[in-house]
Amino acid sequence: MSIVIKGGTVVSSHGRRQLDIRINGEKITELGNGLSIADGEEVVDATGCFIFPGLIDGHTHLELNNGMTDTSDDFTTGSIAAVAKGTTTVIDMATPEHGGTLDECLITWNKMAEGKSSADFNYHMSVIEWNENIAKEIPKMVKKGVTTFKMYMAYDNLRTNDAELYEAMKIIKSVGGMLGVHCENGDVINQLQAEYLKAGKTGPENHPLTRPNQLEAEAVNRYLTIAKQANLAVNIVHLSTKEALEVVKHARAEGQEVYVETCPQYLLLDDEAYGLPNFEGAKYVCSPPLRKKADQEALWQGIIDGEVNTISTDHCDFNFKDQKIIGKDDFTKIPGGMPGVESRPELVYTAGVAAGKITPERFVELLSENIAKQFDLYPQKGIIQVDSDADIVIWDPEATGVISAKTQLQHCDYTPFEGFQTKGKARSVYLRGNKVAENGEIISTKQGKFIFRKIT
Ligand SMILES: [Zn+2]
Repeated sequence: MSIVIKGGTVVSSHGRRQLDIRINGEKITELGNGLSIADGEEVVDATGCFIFPGLIDGHTHLELNNGMTDTSDDFTTGSIAAVAKGTTTVIDMATPEHGGTLDECLITWNKMAEGKSSADFNYHMSVIEWNENIAKEIPKMVKKGVTTFKMYMAYDNLRTNDAELYEAMKIIKSVGGMLGVHCENGDVINQLQAEYLKAGKTGPENHPLTRPNQLEAEAVNRYLTIAKQANLAVNIVHLSTKEALEVVKHARAEGQEVYVETCPQYLLLDDEAYGLPNFEGAKYVCSPPLRKKADQEALWQGIIDGEVNTISTDHCDFNFKDQKIIGKDDFTKIPGGMPGVESRPELVYTAGVAAGKITPERFVELLSENIAKQFDLYPQKGIIQVDSDADIVIWDPEATGVISAKTQLQHCDYTPFEGFQTKGKARSVYLRGNKVAENGEIISTKQGKFIFRKIT
């Protein structure tokens, strides 16, 4: 089956050009002006639209048990929400059991995703404890196509200490892998939470107060200091504060290779949400927490200046009614995280491109190209060129909409962006040559596959 998309404007970090695209099977086979049409070829008119490479979410928890409860989405529903709005590949956080092996975790995640995911997928393998066996498994993961790893400096059930972080970094360095770390000072957060609870401060408004900006900046500084000793280029996931971004700028000025991810919630929401009545602040409990307007401004400036490399979502959703409520009398027990995989493209396009802050080229870099490059998916993903996967988003820059829990595909009873007016949306979405979504509706499901990654 061969398709020619005509009249659209193809966008990459290098610029935009009006080009026709020929798709044959799963691949892009030809780009050019005025491509001829053979008998039986389908022609798609994309006049007036941008053509983006399939967007990639480099940070999701589509299906996870956090120790108390399961995310409201799973791979089936979460990936449908992703693809319908233009995200054709997800890199999910695979999280092993304590005492379990990375290989067992990989098998578990493949069972959850294979045959169910409507988006292509791979994982960042989490390293939540350190021992000789785990050290030996890291090179094995790379051989199995999982080239990136995740570690934590906060959460007692997930974090390792600095020595373990350093040891893991050396092994990851030796195999050419990439590490991303959740940077917050877990010890001090524990103490602050205990102090607050002891003083009877139990509501969601205490969540941001017990995770202040400095505790992210300190952890980022410590992480980068350790990474420098290990000579490892590293990624910081969901960076949220002005102070942490300053630490990164300083490290870069000293010559260190550092990548920064942020998320739409840190660009568009702020900590006033935690003061909402009727426990509604719990909807916004995620870690790091939402910050102040000054942090938002610093992050947007970082995006404009190139200091922020990628925007992913940290999608990790729990229903308000029967799950967030678990923390009604103790904010530290509120399941952390919020839905996001569906709305990222429209949110960042609206607040970034339509608002005149960033160009469509920068949008493609932040939501696709840089993620593909950083995580060993490029040039199979992340760019529209001959021989790349035909993951294509035909984007209508003029379409408008309103984000609402009533109409979202994410399997969650709320959205943190309720009522947000959007400009620009995915008109058609192709995954490896197959049209999988049209006008925000999924038309073909469960076609996603594990994308084997190789370190180049
Ligand atoms: Zn996460």
